[in-house]
Amino acid sequence: MIMNLNDHYQLHIDGESVPASTDNALVTNDPATGEPIAKFAQATTADVDRAVGAAREAVSAWRSKTPVERGQILQDIATQIRANADDLAQIESRDQGKPLTQAQSDVEDAARYFEYYAGAADKLEGKSIPRGDETLDMTVREPYGVSGQIIPWNFPLSITARGVAPALAAGNTVVVKPAPTTPLSALHLAALCRDTGVPDGVVNVVTGGTEPGVALTSHDGVDQLTFTGSVPTGQAVMKAAAETITPVTLELGGKNPAIVMPDADLDEAAFWIATGIFTNAGQICSAADRALVHESIYDEFIELLVDHAVSYDLGPGTDDPDMGPLNHAEHFETVVDYIETGLEEGATLETGGEPLDGDGHFVPPTVFSDVEPEMRIAQEEIFGPVLAVIPFADRTEALEIANGVEFGLTGGVFSRDITQALGVAREIDAGGVYVNEWFGGSVETPFGGMKQSGIGREKGLEALDSYLQTKNIAINLDEDGH
Ligand code: NAD
Repeated sequence: MIMNLNDHYQLHIDGESVPASTDNALVTNDPATGEPIAKFAQATTADVDRAVGAAREAVSAWRSKTPVERGQILQDIATQIRANADDLAQIESRDQGKPLTQAQSDVEDAARYFEYYAGAADKLEGKSIPRGDETLDMTVREPYGVSGQIIPWNFPLSITARGVAPALAAGNTVVVKPAPTTPLSALHLAALCRDTGVPDGVVNVVTGGTEPGVALTSHDGVDQLTFTGSVPTGQAVMKAAAETITPVTLELGGKNPAIVMPDADLDEAAFWIATGIFTNAGQICSAADRALVHESIYDEFIELLVDHAVSYDLGPGTDDPDMGPLNHAEHFETVVDYIETGLEEGATLETGGEPLDGDGHFVPPTVFSDVEPEMRIAQEEIFGPVLAVIPFADRTEALEIANGVEFGLTGGVFSRDITQALGVAREIDAGGVYVNEWFGGSVETPFGGMKQSGIGREKGLEALDSYLQTKNIAINLDEDGH
């Protein structure tokens, strides 16, 4: 199987590449140049209806495969992803803008999701509940049916795999709606699934913007929804799902605190925080957005952060620089506006801040010091390579600042004193906390948010809870029948 960029992508419905019901194609651009890469179909509500219909039709055949068979198919998908890793990474890097090495790592993550959930497919056990001699009581875990999945543009392939793999392992079929600026890798993944033996209709992809997103989240043929994206869109998804009481998993934004205690290894902490905020040009929900630094080491630590920031070389993702461009023009404007806001609010620009000349959407690593916790750049998700460094006097103040935002996705603490580090970790309001590192999770570990960062968990075995519902079966063993 050789994967090449096509000129014009169609929808993927019922195992086939099919045109949308309108000729209005959309275009995805190269973020490094602003030039078009490819056209793709703009799905309408009618197309979503078709895709959901195909997914519904496929449920009973997919569900009735044995768990071992489903697991084997998922394992084969992982093998095929790895066999096509170079092509997939090129496509992802071109479409999203991320450095090739990071795209390669995303492709490996995608393979790992399928491999991991392949292994889980035949271990989705229920339990028996002791209720005395006259009753046998057991639970069975059943798939929902059709899973609708809405994907953002920062990790298009790996987030698609993160949702599709557990959904399929559990016996659901899926309709995926990728983001309109990064539709390509999900379409290639769907074609790869088909060529690997996934039955028609089990994996469907509808491309486009808000219309197919709204159609999918409000469709009464969808039994479960997985959404990854911003808080406002997550709220819209939840409202739409309320109409049909469809369960939702929401993976939303973050404004994650990295607390640097005075006894931390400062070189290590600066490395991890720079990696945490500048990887993927800061377009990561779990990024290290805010460095909370003890006042006794504040100036020294800022110097270390600036040293890292200025060492990043920027360029087109496919040239594999340290940092690529932001994904699209509108988002680039948002990030540039936030930098302007930081200056207006009185923060000190230590480095960066000035977008690169040219048609690409490049913003260099940017560090603000003298940031007050209530400033907008300390409260709102920027989703770019912009770090806010905030001083604190003691642990109580650090935690007040850390938890004084609406988000609660990740957080981190740097300290050589493990008792102190664990104490702080327990008190950060977040679904995941890193100690003396950043991005410490993996395919095997649960991931998700507290507060406005979301509902439910992806990754790990816990993700399967989003794709399975429990049925309790009570059996009367009384020989008299009552
Ligand atoms: P977004 O909310 O703008 O869009 C996400 C997806 O929703 C896109 O596919 C979009 O087309 C679709 N959409 C838009 N309006 C819709 C509607 N009314 N109904 C249904 N779907 C609709 O988010 P984005 O800008 O693509 O992604 C960035 C955001 O995603 C950030 O906030 C980031 O933190 C978050 N994110 C979270 C995680 C996580 O796992 N917690 C991971 C990655 C990104």
